[in-house]
Amino acid sequence: MTQARRKLVAGNWKMNGSLAANAVLMASLADGLRAFKGADTAVCVPAPYLAQVGALAASTGIALGAQTVNEHGAGAFTGEVSAGMLKEMGCRFVIVGHSERRALYGETSAQVAAKFVAAHRAGLEPIACVGETWPERQAGTTEAVVGAQLDALLDAAGESAWSAAVVAYEPVWAIGTGKTASPAEAQAVHAFIRSRIAARYPASAASLRILYGGSVGAANAAGLFACADIDGGLVGGASLKAADFVSICFAASNQGAQ
Ligand code: PEP
Repeated sequence: MTQARRKLVAGNWKMNGSLAANAVLMASLADGLRAFKGADTAVCVPAPYLAQVGALAASTGIALGAQTVNEHGAGAFTGEVSAGMLKEMGCRFVIVGHSERRALYGETSAQVAAKFVAAHRAGLEPIACVGETWPERQAGTTEAVVGAQLDALLDAAGESAWSAAVVAYEPVWAIGTGKTASPAEAQAVHAFIRSRIAARYPASAASLRILYGGSVGAANAAGLFACADIDGGLVGGASLKAADFVSICFAASNQGAQ
């Protein structure tokens, strides 16, 4: 199943940054991506910096995103942030189900699905992360694990949610480790993800952007982005280095629909 999809490169800053460092990084990104039109770009930043980075990104074409969201609309959920709040702060995207949230904060696939639905209802585009651990890959269960994570999303969210959503395949063993899935390994899982979604929602699956994440850098981005079902990247560590992030964006612009 091939269809021209505009690529997306989204940075995940994780719990990094400061007012001063963000200003420097955003100025470098604005400079490096001036007049860049070859792909969609975004930065997903810590919640306290949404206002600052949103203002700095306003005239750059770089979209704003958050890193998680609460599944409830409002109420007694101390410390949490709702999808409506993120929308009000100017977010276009929100990451849900990052493996660090699943592993460190016990987020279940059902909870991730509820966050996905809450994001969609607020007018955000969720970037839903799925991926297997190294023992799961070695045991040959990658498709079973990723399939179950996807099924939770598919059971919770109807077709309208899928038409404005993004999936990120992030093998847990490749995140922040310097190990990357080869383009062929990543493409195989991306094709599986698209076919799993196509079984329920064929039209949305064809246009769905499926990002690869896991130690994407300036040196490996082009090879990954050349694959038929890899529609860009979710970039952690390299998104904190302006020159690397800009290179990754340019690697995306040389592939696929412009
Ligand atoms: C991530 O945290 O989403 C990620 C892909 O990290 P890194 O690029 O550092 O592996």
